[in-house]
Amino acid sequence: MSEQLQQNIAKAEGYLARFKNNTLGHYINGEWTLGSEGNTFDNTTPTDQSFLGKVVQGSEADVNAACDAAAAAAAEWAAMPGAARKKILHKLGDELEKRAEEIAMVESMDCGQPLRFMRQAAIRGAANFRFFADKAPEARNGLSLHQDQHTNYTVRNPIGPVAVITPWNTPFMLSTWKIAPALAAGCTVVHKPAELSPLTAAILAECAEAAGLPKGVWNMVNGFGTVVGKALTEHPAIKAVALVGDSATGKKIQAQTANTLKRLHLELGGKNPVIVFNDADFDRALDAVVFMIYSLNGQRCTSSSRLLIQSGIKDKFLAALKERVANLKVGHSLDPATEVGPLVHTGHYDKVTSYFDIAKQDGATVAVGGKSLRDEMGPGNYVTPTLFVEAANNMRIAQEEIFGPVLTAIEFDTEEQAIELANDTIYGLAGYIWTSNTGCAMRMADKVEAGMLWVNSENNRNLPSPFGGVKMSGIGRDGGDWSFDFYMETKNVCIAHDLHSVPVLGR
Ligand code: NAD
Repeated sequence: MSEQLQQNIAKAEGYLARFKNNTLGHYINGEWTLGSEGNTFDNTTPTDQSFLGKVVQGSEADVNAACDAAAAAAAEWAAMPGAARKKILHKLGDELEKRAEEIAMVESMDCGQPLRFMRQAAIRGAANFRFFADKAPEARNGLSLHQDQHTNYTVRNPIGPVAVITPWNTPFMLSTWKIAPALAAGCTVVHKPAELSPLTAAILAECAEAAGLPKGVWNMVNGFGTVVGKALTEHPAIKAVALVGDSATGKKIQAQTANTLKRLHLELGGKNPVIVFNDADFDRALDAVVFMIYSLNGQRCTSSSRLLIQSGIKDKFLAALKERVANLKVGHSLDPATEVGPLVHTGHYDKVTSYFDIAKQDGATVAVGGKSLRDEMGPGNYVTPTLFVEAANNMRIAQEEIFGPVLTAIEFDTEEQAIELANDTIYGLAGYIWTSNTGCAMRMADKVEAGMLWVNSENNRNLPSPFGGVKMSGIGRDGGDWSFDFYMETKNVCIAHDLHSVPVLGR
């Protein structure tokens, strides 16, 4: 064990002690509570399955209390001038930055993401709050739409209390990405963090409290999707649900919210293609292909899990790729040298490793990896970064979201074939195109079915740009003003110039 890893483990132990020694509850109406029933579940770290603390299993009564608090606080928060909300949200950004190291270490231990990527989590979280804070004063602005004898104008009002339901893969960043625009728009929030990674959501609520958010504006209820998530999505006070999660969960939430007719934003799964043409910048494309599936343990919605490689460079590209994949450093998430950490949970580890056999049964070749590392590395959820070749797009490894450090490479000859393969999936979140031919890039960008396409780039993010998917990857967009459109209702006001004749009946 390196000295640096030992130091990091000691530091993380310090940050984690309070979670280990106290049951983590909910944050409702500005108070920490252990809830109505007192049932708990154990939270463990995927680095070695050791205990990280007890977490309260929320009940329907706890959800009701949180929704009541969010409803009671809604009018005052919505009426607060945008400039005042802006100030509080910037203060929240300051609080996150102050606790950046703690957030990074706790997140790494809770969900297994390597520290090298989590170091940015708080900084990116703070940036999310600052970006939407700056937009808060103008959030209500609308359009002026002129007619000959009338003028229409639109204004936006916060939709009301909203539910934010987040997954475990990058829990902290995704929570901030959803909650920041909701608060800036003037909505109150009930947040349900993923049961597999609840810790940084608690730190986030503490930062909100320290920033002076009024009671009831931010509520957080821990527990399971089937109980807490379900009750939250069915609660009549909740006007909109923002989910980041699995496509199956998105479908369930669509059904659960039907009775109360809620607005939904669903950011779901993906099986994103990275398409590398013969004329691509070889080295840059190789770097991006490796980064976009093996960073964040491949537990990333926008990961490029299908490599579509043109036949002219296939052999050379795959040879270079194999070398890079075999060279990836798997290790403890707190080791600064680690590139791929343990998978979040034993259930997810079982799912990912099951594809090693599925690939062989389907006739693909395991070119690199395809192994559990439990014998070598102990009880943590460690697997070898894996590359499947000689694969076809109809195989399960090309169709199903594995959500691990596992890449499936498929050969193509022509641009038309690349489009056909790229679109032959139920998903449509992201796509990546590597070519030096601008016309080809433009044609591909036009034809590939996805909410987001990157040309000659990995997953570069721009906060004002829209983020979201098509097909089974989701409904709706956030980013920039798209977020406000989701968290606000647009109202049209039509004013006559008193020039038109009003239709007369019964005179
Ligand atoms: P998940 O769908 O199992 O869980 C997500 C959240 O939904 C959790 O908080 C869970 O408790 C809750 N939930 C589960 N059932 C529910 C129900 N019936 N009602 C209400 N809430 C319920 O997803 P996960 O396994 O935590 O995360 C991985 C998935 O998230 C992957 O499919 C990944 O692609 C997706 N994801 C998508 C994006 C995106 O932006 N499109 C980003 C990150 C992750």
